[in-house]
Order: sequence, then C-alpha cells, then structure tokens
Amino acid sequence: MIQVTINGQRHELAPGLSILQALGALGVEVPRLCHDDRLVPAAVCRLCLVEIEGLPRPVPACATRLTSGMDIRTHTPRLEEGRRATLGLLARKHPADVALLPETPFLRALRAYGLEHELSGEPDRSLVDDSHPYLHVDMNRCITCLRCARICGELQGQFTWMVLNRGERTRLTPDSGTTLRESSCVACGACADACPTGALEDKTVLSLGVPTRWTRTTCPYCGVGCELEVGTREDRIVTVRPALDGPVNKGHLCSKGRYAFGFLRAPDRGTAPMIRDGQRWREVSWGEAIRFVAERLQRALERHGPTGVGVLGSARATSEENYLAQKLARVVLGTHNVDCCARVCHAPSAAALKATLGAGAATNSYDDIEQARTILVCGANVTEGHPVLGARIKQAALRDTGLVVVDPRRTEIARYAHVHLQLRPGTNVPLFNAMAQVILSEGLADEAFLRGRVSGREEFEPFIACWTPERAAPLCGVEPSLIREAARLYARGRPAMSVHGLGLTEHVQGTEAVMCLVNLALLTGNVGKPGAGVNPLRGQNNVQGAAHMGCEPRNLTGFVPVEDGRARFESIWKAPLPSAPGLDLMQMLDAARAGRFHALWAIGYDVLLTNPDALSTREALASLELLVVQDPFLNETARELGTVFLPAATSFEKDGTFMNAERRVQRVRRTVEPPAGARADWEILCAVAGAMGHAEGFGFRSAEEIWDEIREVWTAGAGISYARLEQGGIQWPCPTESHPGTRVLHVETFPGRQRAPLSRIDFVPSPEVNSEEYPFTLSTGRALQQFNSGTMTRRTAHAALHPRDVLSIHPEDARRIGVEDGAPVRIRSRHGESVLPAHLDAGVRPGELFATFHTGEAFLNRVTSPYRDPFTRTPEYKLTAVALDRAPGGERT
Ligand code: SF4
Repeated sequence: MIQVTINGQRHELAPGLSILQALGALGVEVPRLCHDDRLVPAAVCRLCLVEIEGLPRPVPACATRLTSGMDIRTHTPRLEEGRRATLGLLARKHPADVALLPETPFLRALRAYGLEHELSGEPDRSLVDDSHPYLHVDMNRCITCLRCARICGELQGQFTWMVLNRGERTRLTPDSGTTLRESSCVACGACADACPTGALEDKTVLSLGVPTRWTRTTCPYCGVGCELEVGTREDRIVTVRPALDGPVNKGHLCSKGRYAFGFLRAPDRGTAPMIRDGQRWREVSWGEAIRFVAERLQRALERHGPTGVGVLGSARATSEENYLAQKLARVVLGTHNVDCCARVCHAPSAAALKATLGAGAATNSYDDIEQARTILVCGANVTEGHPVLGARIKQAALRDTGLVVVDPRRTEIARYAHVHLQLRPGTNVPLFNAMAQVILSEGLADEAFLRGRVSGREEFEPFIACWTPERAAPLCGVEPSLIREAARLYARGRPAMSVHGLGLTEHVQGTEAVMCLVNLALLTGNVGKPGAGVNPLRGQNNVQGAAHMGCEPRNLTGFVPVEDGRARFESIWKAPLPSAPGLDLMQMLDAARAGRFHALWAIGYDVLLTNPDALSTREALASLELLVVQDPFLNETARELGTVFLPAATSFEKDGTFMNAERRVQRVRRTVEPPAGARADWEILCAVAGAMGHAEGFGFRSAEEIWDEIREVWTAGAGISYARLEQGGIQWPCPTESHPGTRVLHVETFPGRQRAPLSRIDFVPSPEVNSEEYPFTLSTGRALQQFNSGTMTRRTAHAALHPRDVLSIHPEDARRIGVEDGAPVRIRSRHGESVLPAHLDAGVRPGELFATFHTGEAFLNRVTSPYRDPFTRTPEYKLTAVALDRAPGGERT
C-alpha cells in the first residue's frame, strides 16, 4: 500500500492506480470528458487536472500514476476556474437544442458548473449525417475528445474515425471522407457508446427516448457470450450497451449484440398457436394447441413406438429449456431420439476432445488470448463469426502476439497473421500432420510434457515421420516453407493457444482434424496452462449448453454417457430411461425418408433452411405425420412443412441461463414482456408433458427451479446457483458452492485417464470431388451483419447492412466465365442449384468459391453436399463441387 494525501486527508491505497482511479475509489468526483476506462488515457479535455504539491503546473489525473507521498488537491479555485472556462468555451460552440439528449455526460458537467445557459452554437446542417441504419451523426455536438476515434481503434481495431485539421478546425470524419454508411464502420456502436455529447447517438434513443430501466442479460447471438445492459422504456427496448465489467466482452459488443434487437417487434412475430388445415393455418388457443400436440405425439407413439418420435433442442433456447426438452424425450416419449444443432457444427470438437483429453469442451478461456504468445486460428473467420473475440485476437496481433491463420480464404484476421496457411478446403488433416512432423523432427516438442502426460509417442513418431511438409504441400496447396514456419512459430512461441471453427469440423474428416489439432497441443505441452489449449468457438449463443444439457442421443446432462448416468438419473427423475439407443438429427431424417420415423418436435431450429442437401431434408420432413415447430417466427420449416406452430418467447423475454464456448454459465434475464400469445419454451414443454400425464416431473414454476434440478443431476455444475450468478458467470467444473469455477482444464490430470493419447490419423479425402462438370469448390459461411438463417437479423435494420447472400469468386475465374461484380450466377452441384450475385474477391483462390448462407431466397443448402463425418454425422458444409454459369436473363444487382 502507498500513503497519499488528497484534499488534506491521508489515505492508504493500492499501488499501480492512476490518480483518477484513486479518486474514483475514494468517491472524489472530478469532471472529465475524454476519459473512458476501456481506453489508454489521452488527457485531451484537461478537465481532470489536479494540483500536486511541489509541481509547478496541474497534471491530468487520468494520465498520472499515483505515487507514495503525493499531496493532491482536486478542487482549488484555480482548478475550478480553469474547468469553468474550458466548459464554457465548449458550451458556446455546442447547439442549444439538447431536449432529446438531456442526460449526456457533457450536459451533466455543464449543469454542475451552472453553464447550461451558455449553449449557443449555430448548427451547421452539413455536419449532420443520417446515412447509417443505426447511428445518427451530428458533429455540431463534437467536442473533439477523440473518444470515438480511440475506441474504434483500441477496442475494435477498425480505425474508421479520422481526425482532420488542427486546433480550432479539428474535425472527426469517417474514413470514407463522406458518410458513415460508406465508411469501413462495422456498426459495433462503440463510438456512440463512448461519445459524451450525443454527437454520435443511437437512432433508437433519439426516436424512442432515453431508457428508464436497465437490465443485464446475455447476447442472443453467437457463442462468445457477451453481456448486455439492455435499456428499456415503456416495456420496449430502446438501446443495448455492453456491460463494462462483462468478463467476456469487457465493455464491447458487435453490431448484432448492440443493435439487432428490432426483431422482437417484427410485424410477423408469432403471437398465436396455429394448426395446419390443408394449405392454410388456423389460429387456435393455447389449450387446443397443447392438447393437439399431446394427442398427436401419443398417437405416433402408439402407432410406431418411441423409436419413431424425436425432439430437437435449440441453441437459441436457455439451458433450462434444453434440459426439459431432453427430459421430455426420455421420460415422456421414452426415447433417446433427441439432438440439437451441435450435430451440424461442433459435434466433432466435442467427440475429439472427449476422446483425447477426456472432456468435450474448450480447455481454456477467452482471457487466455491476452496471455498467449502465439494464437493459431483454424477454420474460423473470427472477426465476422465471433466479432468481439475477433477484435481481441486482432488487438493481440497488433501487440505482436504471434498469429497463424489456417483458412482457405484471406479473411480479415488473415491479414494480421504472421503466417497465413491458405490451404485447400478439406485438407486440415495433412496440414496438421505435417506441422506435427516438423515439431518432432526439429526437436521442438515439450519433452517433459510428453514424458509425463502423453501416451502413444512410440507409435506416433514413425507414423508421423512420413508426413513431411513436402508430402502435405501438394495436397493442401501450401508451400512447405510456410508449413515449417507456422509449426516453428506455434511450437516456439509458448504458451500457444488454438481456436477453431467450422472450417475444421464441417468436413468428413471433422473429428479427425480436431484430433490432429490436439496432437499439436500435446506435442508442445500447450495443454493445462494459461495462454494455451484447444478451443472450439461455438457458433450460437447456447449451442454448448444445448448439447451439454443432454440434447444428444448418447449423452445425458453433463455430457455423461447414457449407461454411465442411468442409475443416477433414474433415481432423481423417478422414471426409467429408455433402453434402446437414440437417433441423432441426421439419423432421424434418414429414418424418416425410410419410413421409420414419423413425428418431430423442432424447438427454435429451422431445419429445412439450415440442413445441407435441402432436397433430401425436405423429403424427410414432408414424410412426417407430425412436425411441431416452436419458434418466435413461422420459419421456413414451419411455413412449408409444419403441422403445428407454437409461438415462443425470445431470450429477451424470459429468464434462464446460457453457456458460452468457454464453459461459462451466464444469466439470461427478462428485459421486456413477451407479446401476448407467445410463451417461454420451458412453459410450453411443461404444458405438453402435463397433458401427456407427466405433470409431476414437469411442475416447474420458474427457470430457477429447473436449474436447481439440473444442479442435482449434473455434479460438475452443482456449485453454480442463481444467487452466485448474480455476481457474474461461472465456468464449470464447479462442483460446490465454495468452488470458484475452472478457467483452465487439465492442469494436472485428465478426466478418466492418466495420459492423453497422440492420435495417428491418415488422410482420407472427401468423396465429394471436382470433375470436368463440377470444377469449382464451394465453401459456405457467415457474414458479419447476419446470423445463421437470418430469422432474427433479417428482421432488423441489419437487412440493410447485408441485404443478400453473395458468392465470392476470384476475379480471374469471373473473367473466364464472363461474370461481372454483382451479376447473378447460377451455382449447380450434384445435389441442387441456387442463384447468387457474384462478388469479385481476390481473397478466395482461383477455383474456389465462398458463399454466405443467410437467406431463404438464395437457399444455398439446396446445393451443399450430403457427405458426413463418420464419427458424428456432422455434414460437410464446407466442401461441395459445383459448376458456375451466368444466370439466364439475370440483371446485375
Ligand atoms: Fe453477441 Fe457474439 Fe457479437 Fe458478442 S460477439 S455481441 S455474443 S454476437
């Protein structure tokens, strides 16, 4: 501790604080307008100046470190006069029209000094820019504190705001030189969040008014799991701001979390249950809908037995709701036919990590990004798919953390990489094998770790010896020297952490590719320590939770294999578990096509639009005698093939928890009431279970009651109570209420094994091959401004930010087939066809294509291939052989 004197009072304070932080800790208020805890202090506004005994001039409190013995004065007449003069100058340039924004920090500061009447600037229309769908720009209000430009660079790494001119003429402008809409802005809203004057402001706040209530919850989009402060007014969301102390997002959000909440009030929001009557839908009461679903499920059970019915849980629903979905399948329907969309994304990660390290989840945490010396990003377009995490990785690379990117495209993050391995789609296995060969042959392995914690080296070494970079290079299309460079960087720059996405898992070698990635971590000792590990980036907010809660045919809650958990679950549930093994999603669809599966209840999952090989998905769904779709919207699956539609509440409208990709359980809180007629998924599940005679095991009255039962069955989560979650998210394992949670797995041991095995994986290429007729290779993925099937984002102003799916094609290929930028192109595969506008992009290699997949109009999954990873049946979305030609009669868009 250090001793200081502040305004004549002596204090003992922790070392390392700035004077401003110390004043904050003691409750001493000094005005400041350029300061933001998320930013490096810039001392631009000069309002926080303080006097220090012995120094000739005042110093900025934000940028001066507290040192022992300082005698500080914060409100002397000279300081206060200076502040009044500075604020007065700013006020006289600022427009007087402040009625819409009565609560800005600037206005509060003026009020504190009695200077409101000084507001007298003449507004200049040319400084107003209303072009952006979410942000209103009025540079008449700018006080050049530079918070917008600094936060854009320091937090988002985007550098959109530029400073023009000097002195009096200083002006902030977007990098387009024209409007914000035309600039490089990614709509993260950080600038508006940081702006103290309302020069940059959310349009919703201007049109709906400032919030009167704030509720903390978790983002409904990707698996990063950012925490939100949701501002509401008259039961309507007005704005969303980042939780400043959110452990995941640390005061930042991407455009989806920040702005894409308009879907709540979309005009086509489902507000009444409906039953299909031929080609028409008939609105019914909830009582009739629940009776209908219960009776038709019962009828299917009587006709076909429990193997003919199944349930799909939802990555969009809470963990409590997914727990109930699988409990209902197992206890009420008597089947393990229960699955979720983890099947089509990270099931290979869970399988590979469980098989090698003993736990099917990320080994480390996002905070390891800042501790890693090297980061290996594999098959993940992080700045678009997981934007806040992508921004953190970008910032790490800017600070000179080693960065290796494995991706067939030159994505934004690849531009920051020290080594970009631009491999052919589907060649992760030979690439990682070659990196392993380099690590062992060049003596870069962690010998102590291998001796103490790894098995199978004797067999692995001769196997891997022949996987030289020269052997892998022609398969992968990557120079041997680059493979060596990447392997050396990863092995020498320890701790090294890997993050991976669907570019690894959505291949026929998905599970094997993740096992090969685990090999690299084991060889280099990058397991069980901070800044290291193998970390799947989960795509949807609660896909980790959905599978972990037991929406998985072979595993119960806690990812416990059915036979291992049978006795415990039967005793807690007071019901027998089915004895027949269950079907996963892909098997259910196969069985439906074969006439052996007849009734499906799909919760928050647009199966038709999102499954690959859509023609056969449609055939399977069309053959069902009952298809229950439960969703906030009549999605494509419901619209085309549903039997009954149950309108569900969104996560802004209910309580519960989500589990993010780093195993963190976080609270979801009701911020507004659901529309009349929509119900929370858990309420619907309980009602149907009750109507089927199981009221006792489903008599829950709140999400917390369900969570408490989850804690009973899931030993590794037993210590995570709602009361504890009020203080912030907790990472499992957390077996007791006194356990702090677990940031890094496998520190000393692996679950269920002494040592983790090295895996010998040979390369078996995909059966989906190019031919003379299908010479191009198509991969699919997300765009920053849309999310999956677009159910939510396309019902917001994000539709203007990314209005349509596009096909990225190399300019050389485009020239060869006579296609211009924006021209519609017909994509044909062996499985179907689609039409998309071309986007000329030198970031894809000649012969390769990339398309986004968000819209029902493009319906890209009519094209994707039916092949699957043999271990998990995860489809190979990332590789389809296609032909291209200019769409007949198509106009340029
Ligand atoms: Fe939401 Fe993911 Fe964006 Fe965070 S990064 S705000 S969790 S979509």
